[in-house]
Amino acid sequence: MNTSQSQALFQKTYDYVRETSLLESTLALLEWDEQTGIPAHAAEFRANQVAFLSGLIHQRATNCDYGAWLSELANSELAHPSDSPVAASIRGLKRDFDKSVQLPLDLVTRTARAVTVGQQIWSLAKPKNDYAAFLPILKEIVALRREEATILSKNHACKYDSLLDQYEEHAKSDEIAVVFTELREQLVPLVQRLTNSKSGPDGKSIAGIFDVAQQQELSKWVATQIGFDFDRGRLDETVHPFCTTLGPHDHRILTRYFEDSFSSGLYGTLHEAGHGLYEQGLPTEWFGMPAGYAASLGVHESQSRLWENMVGRSREFWQWCLPHAQQRFPQLKNVSVDQIFADLNRVEPSLIRIEADEATYNLHILLRFELEKELIDGNLTCEELPSAWGDRYESYLGIRPKDDREGVMQDVHWAAGLIGYFPTYTLGNIFAAQLMAAAETELGDIPAMVANGDFAPLLNWLRQHVHSFGSCLKPTDLMEKATQSKLSSKPLMAYLTRKLVPLYG
Ligand SMILES: [Zn+2]
Repeated sequence: MNTSQSQALFQKTYDYVRETSLLESTLALLEWDEQTGIPAHAAEFRANQVAFLSGLIHQRATNCDYGAWLSELANSELAHPSDSPVAASIRGLKRDFDKSVQLPLDLVTRTARAVTVGQQIWSLAKPKNDYAAFLPILKEIVALRREEATILSKNHACKYDSLLDQYEEHAKSDEIAVVFTELREQLVPLVQRLTNSKSGPDGKSIAGIFDVAQQQELSKWVATQIGFDFDRGRLDETVHPFCTTLGPHDHRILTRYFEDSFSSGLYGTLHEAGHGLYEQGLPTEWFGMPAGYAASLGVHESQSRLWENMVGRSREFWQWCLPHAQQRFPQLKNVSVDQIFADLNRVEPSLIRIEADEATYNLHILLRFELEKELIDGNLTCEELPSAWGDRYESYLGIRPKDDREGVMQDVHWAAGLIGYFPTYTLGNIFAAQLMAAAETELGDIPAMVANGDFAPLLNWLRQHVHSFGSCLKPTDLMEKATQSKLSSKPLMAYLTRKLVPLYG
């Protein structure tokens, strides 16, 4: 192909993929609607809509003519330089295509069925604490994911890596394990030191009843202040907070409010707004193409954790925010910045991941990463899982679940087939601390800016060093370029120690 032929072929491919993205974003809209209050009797028709659209998307994604265009493009001069948006899009689309045709349809169908059944059984077995009822389907799901890993793993030394790769492209579990182990070896004693301390925050300043309408207003106002663009997005309520993109200028964030937990709604908003800011900062002209996607789940999570924790749980954030919160909640009138800051940063080993504080959270993730890798590698059976889970909690957090409901059955991930997903949460925390350190080196005193409610310099730095790249670079290359360093747990440990140790005398 000469240059003009390859450009014409790229244009044809671009148009085709953008058309597929119309279907995908419509599907996302239906899913958003499902999570924000679909009438009970509408569920069945909605399932038909979703199944029909998913089928159309699958047909388009596996169309052999489309696959042939991608092969031609991958061998054309447009595939270089490799980090240009055009080349990155060709590479990303070819990768997705190869993966979707590599897996036998029979395996895809069996897995889709198993994870649907798995989630149904899990939701019934969990409240009854009935692991025996969940075990057969969990075994089937693990076996199916291992089968998939075996097919995909011809490009990976380790089976687990081919699953991890679906969420964190090119990540290697042995490299991650080195950094995670380093983190664990320092986190376990830090958590012990904090929890053994005689003094520390008691959570009283944030206890009580907080008017939900006021919480909604404060959350929306804070999201606006940090830079979330409400002309290109919305904030709504749901059971499990999330963020979704329905178009290049349509980003939806969802949180939930509790009268008796003022922090849930606000931090749910800050977390999801962090994801939303990333989505709003991606290049819109590449919407639907890899150059317009987020780099990985870990990088995505770094954005949410950075705004939620590193900004939102800082003393300087409360210097700025407390007067605004006091206007809405009279019970905060006599609360000081130091008190609310300390109470929002309490460290307490607990059994439930989603309720964990910033320090112990990573220990919940590390043990899940270790266990799921052992399951896929065949070094652990599903029968042995509950006791391995308990042992690991005891050694990392010093507590043991009394039953499987608060133990191995607490998360939906494995029931939903999501194996290889957990490590992206802690990668997000590690990346966030590395990014913050790099941003401070360049911008100077970020805490002082936060104390003034001036969030724009930090957001612009993230736009420039992370968001604008889409997925043109591999996640590790993107992070190394932005932070000028390799993956390291040091900035995260330094941040946690600096912030938490003084709170515990
Ligand atoms: Zn998140």
